[in-house]
Amino acid sequence: MRDFEIDGIGMTSRRTRERLIQRLVDQGIQSTKVLDAIRTIPRHLFLDEALAHRAYEDTALPIGHNQTLSQPYIVARMTEVLLAQGELSKVLEIGTGSGYQTAVLASLIGKVYSVERIRPLQEKARQRLSRLSLNNVRLRHTDGGMGWPEESPFDGIIVTAAPGDVPQELLNQLSPEGGRLVIPVGSEVQNLVLITRKGDEYQRKVLEAVRFVPLLTGVIR
Ligand code: SAH
Repeated sequence: MRDFEIDGIGMTSRRTRERLIQRLVDQGIQSTKVLDAIRTIPRHLFLDEALAHRAYEDTALPIGHNQTLSQPYIVARMTEVLLAQGELSKVLEIGTGSGYQTAVLASLIGKVYSVERIRPLQEKARQRLSRLSLNNVRLRHTDGGMGWPEESPFDGIIVTAAPGDVPQELLNQLSPEGGRLVIPVGSEVQNLVLITRKGDEYQRKVLEAVRFVPLLTGVIR
């Protein structure tokens, strides 16, 4: 790909991106690693061309099929929470969507697994990730409520769509040595919840109110 496409020009330029980073800092994001990842990953490449000029606004944006690319603040916050106890080597994401959160994770973590129930979204995400040479990602077309049992346990699991309750399968697939699950829970009112596993104990912490698309069942081809 031509460099200016990745680097961005005008509304996707470095200066525009830097304003977003400052906004995230103002909202309390502290991890330099996470801020650097957001600075580096070109969010405009994860949107249709007609929306690319809005890529560095701190808002969720539509990606088709009634789904949205999460707000940068939320991507930053969830990633920061996931990494708060130090390095992780293996993480599962439920809800690949555009692949943007996947890309941010892949730039920070050794091995990223991500599942998506809508095939056309997954295919686009796959192209974007390979364009950016993020080769430490494995994608699967499946209902993520079941996780990815063959690859478990995971040091971290991040869910980018909201179930009414935490799926038991995901708890089972957390590493017993401090595995962390970051997940929005609820329907009308949703909270971002962090669950940390130590052996058979699951410690639950409510972080903040959020708004995600719902976690749905079944797959779309
Ligand atoms: N992380 C994404 C957010 C996309 S929105 C991004 O950065 O763009 C949430 C995504 O979760 C949607 O693509 C939706 O199709 C997907 N999703 C919803 N329920 C799912 C399920 N049960 N299994 C897998 N993916 C699911």
